[in-house]
Amino acid sequence: MPKFAYFEGQFVPYTDARVSIAAHAFNYGTGVFEGIRAYWNEQQEQLYVVRLREHYQRMLQSVKVLRMQLSLDADQMSALTVELLRREGYREDVYIRPLAYKANEVIGVRLHNLKDEFAIFAVPFGKYIEQQEGARVCFSSWRRNDDNAIPPRGKVTGAYVNSALIKSEAMLNGFDEAIVLNADGHVSEGSAENFFIVRGGKLITPPVTANILEGITRQAIIELARIELGIETVERQIDRSEVYMADEAFFCGTGVEVTPIGSVDHIPLGNGGVGPITRQISALYFKIVRGNEPKYLNWLTPVYPK
Ligand code: PMP
Repeated sequence: MPKFAYFEGQFVPYTDARVSIAAHAFNYGTGVFEGIRAYWNEQQEQLYVVRLREHYQRMLQSVKVLRMQLSLDADQMSALTVELLRREGYREDVYIRPLAYKANEVIGVRLHNLKDEFAIFAVPFGKYIEQQEGARVCFSSWRRNDDNAIPPRGKVTGAYVNSALIKSEAMLNGFDEAIVLNADGHVSEGSAENFFIVRGGKLITPPVTANILEGITRQAIIELARIELGIETVERQIDRSEVYMADEAFFCGTGVEVTPIGSVDHIPLGNGGVGPITRQISALYFKIVRGNEPKYLNWLTPVYPK
């Protein structure tokens, strides 16, 4: 269990960070959040937070969608996060969860004229999907939220009921994860991660207008593939049947990191394991986030003084 939390303006013991049963966000899902990882590097005795500032910049975009007012900027939130991790003294991989939420104890569904609060906690964390040698994936019978209903571009707490429906259906049917289609029948992403296929040596991923979260890992992989591997990414609509025909496919995100997909709807992709391009991307990604690639140290924020 964590020892501390940053909660509504101060660091408090973790067990004191509690919201009311009547809290607006608890009743109506009117919160936004981020998921950030920090990796422990044993040789360097350093904890590295991955793309910290980018996560808070995105959070401030989500904040706009929910018409929130926060007094903190991305740099201040980043500094509070580093401070929290130092207080915890973590020497292992952790997951950091910042939240901004409508805190009033009031009945009435709306976004305006409410008090917005900010909190962070951080917990030790391992793999999000256990199967790392070719996840068994299905297409969900659910559809992704539409931008005109609950915008997936904002990381809104209430919207994750959609993700939870998708994830549980998949797991209870014996799969590790699901790909979800938009209302128009094209691929959006996984339950809580972005999605890529490899066809003819190129990466293909749905565009940011496909009701996806504009993933920080997604963008990082597009850049890495181009700069380090000379592989271009095409951002375009993907049909369901194209996924069956893909040479390789993988999920990516802070939680799932790079998770290779072995089969979709029981149809094996490639040899049903981890494809060669996916393996290269994954190796590069893990080397960078753990702080073992000097060229990309600017992606990372060290928690402890050197
Ligand atoms: N899509 C959804 C719906 C997500 O919740 C997430 C984050 N867990 C992602 C994609 C991946 O985003 P990121 O790479 O920024 O973590």
